Amino acid sequence: MTPIFYHSKQQVAHQFISVQKIPEFVRQSGRKPFAFDPYQSTDFCSAHDPNFVRDVLACKTHNGFRTLDPEINTALHYSNASMGAAVQHVLKHGGIACSASQGFHHAHYDHCYGFCTFNGLVIAARKALEQVDTVLLIDGDAHQGDGTEDCLERLKLADRIINVTREGREVIGEPEHSEFSVSDWKAFVDNLIGRYKPGLMIYQAGADAWDLDPFKAGYLSFEALGRRDQGVFAAAKGHGVPLVWNLAGGYADPMQKTIDIHLQTLNISDQAYG
Ligand SMILES: [Zn+2]
Repeated sequence: MTPIFYHSKQQVAHQFISVQKIPEFVRQSGRKPFAFDPYQSTDFCSAHDPNFVRDVLACKTHNGFRTLDPEINTALHYSNASMGAAVQHVLKHGGIACSASQGFHHAHYDHCYGFCTFNGLVIAARKALEQVDTVLLIDGDAHQGDGTEDCLERLKLADRIINVTREGREVIGEPEHSEFSVSDWKAFVDNLIGRYKPGLMIYQAGADAWDLDPFKAGYLSFEALGRRDQGVFAAAKGHGVPLVWNLAGGYADPMQKTIDIHLQTLNISDQAYG
């Protein structure tokens, strides 16, 4: 079974669905999450301007929710560390893991927006570069990972952390992707692995890519989301590349449909590596 990395301190009282769905996803998964230690401020500085990190943590600058809430700051130490811990787990043991987290890819080097404060993708990937040469980041969120692009450019890491996103050097979400079969998705990822030879993959299994998502950026049916997940996991497993996935995007009301998309990914993950 796919291990899930989640800490109860990730939970906050904010009503935004992306916050509320995560503990519910973990509860409905029926499994006990793996424990880990929270990040320290120095961890955030590995992807961000230290002055920006200091001001957010001192509640002098708005977080990605546009609040000055210390409870959210506490949660950020755990949500970002969830990704870091899952990455370290797969680098040590191989295979696959789930980080029950989101709220990363709009976090820029020195500012934040769109419910993203610190870029847990870049932080975890940069730490992984101590152990592997290249990280392939497949950002299946339906929106562009503009914060990730900005961090990688500012850190001069864009040639070692390859970001595949809605608009960029490597694009996911082209019109033809809505018709992709499992083998088409596998070929798409096989090609990326062949060109970049990653030692680690991080996959944002974005649920807002669902075509009925209310944010209207989606391009995949519920079944097509499953084909995408199957193709990504089959390619990673076939090449022996360790993979961590997380729960980006997804704004359905009621939120159960978004949770169902994430549970589908978990089920496919279990089957692919079972
Ligand atoms: Zn999104």
